[in-house]
Amino acid sequence: MFEKSKNAFKEAKKYIAGGVDSPVRAFKSVGGTPVFIEKGEGAFLIDIDGNRYIDYVQSWGPLIFGHADEETLKDIFEAARKGVSFGAPTTLETELAKEIVELFDSIDKIRFVNSGTEAVMSAIRLARGYTKKDDIIKFEGCYHGHSDSLLVQAGSGAATFGNPSSPGVPKDLTKHTLLAKYNNIDSVKKCFEDSKDIACVIVEPIAGNMGLVPANEKFLQDLRELCDKNGALLIFDEVMSGFRASLKGAQGLIDVKPDLVTLGKVIGGGMPVGAFGGRDDIMDMLSPEGPVYQAGTLSGNPVAMAAGLSTIKRLKENPSIYKTLEKRAKRLTNGLKEIANEANIALQVDVRGSMFGFFFNEKEVKNFDDAKNSDTKLFAKFHQEMLKRGVYFACSQFETGFISTKIDDDLIDETLKKAKEVFKGLNG
Ligand SMILES: *Cc1c(COP(=O)(O)O)cnc(C)c1O
Repeated sequence: MFEKSKNAFKEAKKYIAGGVDSPVRAFKSVGGTPVFIEKGEGAFLIDIDGNRYIDYVQSWGPLIFGHADEETLKDIFEAARKGVSFGAPTTLETELAKEIVELFDSIDKIRFVNSGTEAVMSAIRLARGYTKKDDIIKFEGCYHGHSDSLLVQAGSGAATFGNPSSPGVPKDLTKHTLLAKYNNIDSVKKCFEDSKDIACVIVEPIAGNMGLVPANEKFLQDLRELCDKNGALLIFDEVMSGFRASLKGAQGLIDVKPDLVTLGKVIGGGMPVGAFGGRDDIMDMLSPEGPVYQAGTLSGNPVAMAAGLSTIKRLKENPSIYKTLEKRAKRLTNGLKEIANEANIALQVDVRGSMFGFFFNEKEVKNFDDAKNSDTKLFAKFHQEMLKRGVYFACSQFETGFISTKIDDDLIDETLKKAKEVFKGLNG
């Protein structure tokens, strides 16, 4: 049933490194080969062999209104007809900026870039420029894009100073990145003891890149306090949770105000957009007003802005969307947990707005160590079997799932019916 995709992957591998333009697409952690997509239609993906899938990946988050959404397409076409790029300002940028600034108490000013990676990289540079300090604290299991300073794995033993997790990243660079444990404030205190040169703490307030692992509100409050005490900035990376967990991302659910926020995914409505924003006095440090350099040929691209604006405006006009999507996400995860348990398989589930996660794990997952204890082999089997039955889940245990407005209760019940079959087989 995957013949054409298999051949397409073989062909792609001849010309594209690894056959994919982003490694997670290669299905390495679940085995098999990736399906190549012909098109998307609302809740569904259709591959080049003609198989149809209920899609819980949503391009890894952006497509909250589903695939090829008519209203988004209309706004994209309208913008594209006027020209696809100018390298000069348009009012679309201001319009989208205004929508976002109005929503987030923590954002006075914003700047648009082309990806989440770029947004975070720029925010870190700005935090370093503003504080005139070099070190940063990040958490194990949090992903902030693939820029050098942030590609850091757990250091060995007690050392909190990071080692690069990829060749090509100089140790001289990552020695400025200190690692702490998610939801563990003592590990952050230790970092502040180890270095008096901390520019910022960067955190996913709702971690979505080790599977879905929300932070405790108290933990985030304590982070805020530690940052203030030590003259460091607090950065919330809401590239995934922004406009997903709630209209205001994690900041709509918890009462902690960061100094800088990074956004991406949903704000582009499927087009490549990232953004970072924050307090006036920090954002004014950016070139051309200030000395911290940051730039982009295609930044604020009019077609991408139109897609983002189309999406964000509609979300603001219909805030009840989040309640609806959360209900559906819970229907799915509670259903999965129940039928897993019936098959004597332990499943940990969680939901934040339109984000959901499930771990094949006996214990509650609060940090990356817990997440890594999950049964990834069982997950891989589950993934393969669901794929064969027309359900497209993210191809790794350590990813978050998403509900779009096009996925209704009937599609969720169909998913559960298929999952029931699969779970029965898994424990055989
Ligand atoms: C996806 C993601 C990024 C990276 O965004 P890209 O657009 O893939 O560069 C950064 N931070 C978080 C929290 C993300 O989920």
